[in-house]
Amino acid sequence: MSTSAYVHIPFCARKCNYCAFYSAATNSVKIEKYVSALENQIRNSPSKGEKIKSVFFGGGTPSVLPPHLFERLLSALFDTFDLSDAEITTELNPDSVDNILDPSVFTKFTRFSMGVQSFDDEELSVLGRIHNADQAIKAYEKLRSAGAKNINIDLMLALPGENHFQKLEKTLETAIKLSPEHISAYILTPEENTPLYEKYGYFNDDIAPDIYRHVCNELASAGYEHYEISNFAKKDYRCVHNMCYWTQQKYLAFGPTACGFDGTSRFRIDCSTDEFIEKNGLVEPFVEETLSSTNLEEEKTMLSLRLCDGIDKQTFDRIISDKQKKAFVDNLLSSSLAYVNDKGGLSLTDDGFLVSNEIIRNLM
Ligand code: SF4
Repeated sequence: MSTSAYVHIPFCARKCNYCAFYSAATNSVKIEKYVSALENQIRNSPSKGEKIKSVFFGGGTPSVLPPHLFERLLSALFDTFDLSDAEITTELNPDSVDNILDPSVFTKFTRFSMGVQSFDDEELSVLGRIHNADQAIKAYEKLRSAGAKNINIDLMLALPGENHFQKLEKTLETAIKLSPEHISAYILTPEENTPLYEKYGYFNDDIAPDIYRHVCNELASAGYEHYEISNFAKKDYRCVHNMCYWTQQKYLAFGPTACGFDGTSRFRIDCSTDEFIEKNGLVEPFVEETLSSTNLEEEKTMLSLRLCDGIDKQTFDRIISDKQKKAFVDNLLSSSLAYVNDKGGLSLTDDGFLVSNEIIRNLM
């Protein structure tokens, strides 16, 4: 079992209209105090000395950190763990790319994940994004010119407003032309208590399946492997960090609200940013659940079905030894929602991914 690390940066330059994540507006005094607490948590990690397979800075918007503070966090990680072969990713937004381009931090990252969402200015304004399409393209080009070899862009599908389908075409065309190594494409889920939900309510249930299928086809034609429900990668560019979540590897959690897994228990740094600062990062993790071997096995099946690799032959054989489940699987196969993969296991098709929750419920 390998170990990864998630580092949470709970600050954003501005709140987007669809966002229900916990994040606070940037405030330089608070950010500095937060970084000190986070640095202290990292340096006092009980896993000190361990080899780490991937580090992921997420948020919030990690790129709001000024380079000298980002550098402190990276040094703490490099001093505390063995990161010699690690994939090290930061999320960033186009408006703050310059912080990431500072050589003191840029050279430490092996992967960059940029929140783009759409290359259409009207859609970006509906979403309340702080950047426009041109800024996103320029930020991408700046990363490339600086030498970035592994870039992900995040896109959002089934957006409200007029002519989404045409706008999406433009977004896909631009994305494919830029040729990032990885694209994440999520169907927007309207979250209650957000400005977007107040304005549009639930608006995309009808259009989402067609849009999803279209995006899967376009990205497959452009050479991207559809390796997880919402993730597409060029050959050998699957996200190592996300694969760790989907294959039940261990991950450490740094920062308030960050979640971790030690192989059997899921835990959370369960406190506010203020409390985290007050305790100088030394917050006892809260164990949310401890999984029995049956729970772990079930979860493994569920996670495997999110991946194009699917469930292995042994698990598949066990499932179809149950008469009722076999009938369900036969039905999936005949309706092209699933297929027997080249290793004799079971994988879902794009249509199957669209109803994966229901499929998983029936196979458990
Ligand atoms: S940048 Fe991301 S985390 Fe921050 S408000 Fe927007 S969607 Fe939420």
